[in-house]
Amino acid sequence: MRIGNLSDRLTVFTESGAVDVQKASHGRFGPDPQSVYGRWDEFVEWAGQGIGTADASAFAREDLGAPAPRPTQVFGIGANYRAHADEARLETPEFPVVFTKFPTSITGPVGDVVLSGPKVDWEAELVVVIGRLARNVATEDAWGHVAGLTVGQDLSDRTEQMKNQMPQWSLGKSFPGFSPMGPWLVTPDELADPDDLQISCTVNGTQMQFASTSALLFSVPALIAELSAKLPLLPGDVIFTGTPGGVGATRKPPVYLKAGDELVTTVEGVGELRQRFVAA
Ligand code: ZN
Repeated sequence: MRIGNLSDRLTVFTESGAVDVQKASHGRFGPDPQSVYGRWDEFVEWAGQGIGTADASAFAREDLGAPAPRPTQVFGIGANYRAHADEARLETPEFPVVFTKFPTSITGPVGDVVLSGPKVDWEAELVVVIGRLARNVATEDAWGHVAGLTVGQDLSDRTEQMKNQMPQWSLGKSFPGFSPMGPWLVTPDELADPDDLQISCTVNGTQMQFASTSALLFSVPALIAELSAKLPLLPGDVIFTGTPGGVGATRKPPVYLKAGDELVTTVEGVGELRQRFVAA
């Protein structure tokens, strides 16, 4: 199943087009895309009985919003691919490196992003949305707590990120528009192997990152186990799982996003994001 946010309304995306959940469920489920995660089991059961597609309609990509627009908690994971840890001269972490992206930075899959400065960088990421409360979850049970997967960009202002002697990651990754997500949420059962998805991004058509999520140092289940041992993961919470090698800051010479650039980010079997950058 593919669910998401079309003009701020909870929507199921079928072969026939977009189906508005409030209308299709005769009001049983409301229009708010974020609220569905609090009733995930009930929603999956309802959807599993077959969603009528008589009212399915065409839609414009520009009208898609983030599939989880207002999570209570957003987790970012640093240095979670060997190649990126190497290029950033970071040791392979023994435990997940965790930061947050503040929720006001979340936007939909297509649109303009205002550059916060001269050193804004891309980070293609697989993003997980939690569907069932997770607390002290074992690795082998972790996928059962996932509502689905989506594509994300952990856009990062490297000046802001690194300007202190002790770097702090969250603010430089939380400018408005710096957490695009979408185009929709794909439930894990739709994917042949949700632990092995190709992830990539291009800038103006040139490939900058390419990897498989099977190379994650801490896999999706391992992250859920580690995080849920410390605190509860709530339905609708979001995990940005880390970026592969190939970011701009560690290139020689470094490459950063500039006004007019188009960034396209893809996860196999899920979809793509498309951001255009504009000057402040
Ligand atoms: Zn990242």
